[in-house]
Amino acid sequence: ARFADLGLSDEVLAAVEDLGYEHATPVQAMAIPQVLAGRDILAAAQTGTGKTAAFLLPTMSRLPRVKRARGRAMSVGCGPRMLIITPTRELAQQIDDVCKKVAARTRHTAVTVVGGVSYNPQKSALKRGCDILVATPGRLVDLIDQGACMLDEVQVLVLDEADRMLDMGFLPAVRKIVSYTPADRQTLLFSATLDEAAVGSITDLVSDPARVEI
Ligand code: AMP
Repeated sequence: ARFADLGLSDEVLAAVEDLGYEHATPVQAMAIPQVLAGRDILAAAQTGTGKTAAFLLPTMSRLPRVKRARGRAMSVGCGPRMLIITPTRELAQQIDDVCKKVAARTRHTAVTVVGGVSYNPQKSALKRGCDILVATPGRLVDLIDQGACMLDEVQVLVLDEADRMLDMGFLPAVRKIVSYTPADRQTLLFSATLDEAAVGSITDLVSDPARVEI
């Protein structure tokens, strides 16, 4: 499928050119129009299928930007409008890479927080405010507990590699994080498999989802 036919914003289409993608992969062709329409998504997609762009391109086409003065958020709340949770540091870094490239065109600000590194730079970045937050579950729970992160302005929640997050024991962390986000958010759940045994414990987090299976 041609990216130009999927309804993405001009800024995001420019980013797609920067990334060098010529044609949408099957999961992108199926997911992008549904995400643009505001639907929740249950997507079965392995790493390597283009799933990262499948959730970043349509969400970043629609996501509002917070107006900032001198790098500081002007509104009272400066929490992220989009939250992406992913199981590992490596996956967070991959998402961060694509996100930064798209953000160079859309002018969103993005912050990534992962475990194993010091808290203070992450806290400072969160204080400055961002449109998009990419996080691993354990570190995000710690930052929430320390009062460093507010999720009450999240409009879009992405659960990346959900089956792997659950395998790694992150169910309590994921549920806690989601409990701080508004109930009327859009939720996109990506998993290698949509089997009940793999993700049944969190499918209540999506509402009337479009199923994307390739
Ligand atoms: P992912 O499934 O998100 O881990 O992506 C796997 C790889 O596919 C990444 O290296 C992407 O840069 C690449 N990729 C994603 N979408 C496309 C596309 N439409 N055309 C070519 N490469 C892509």
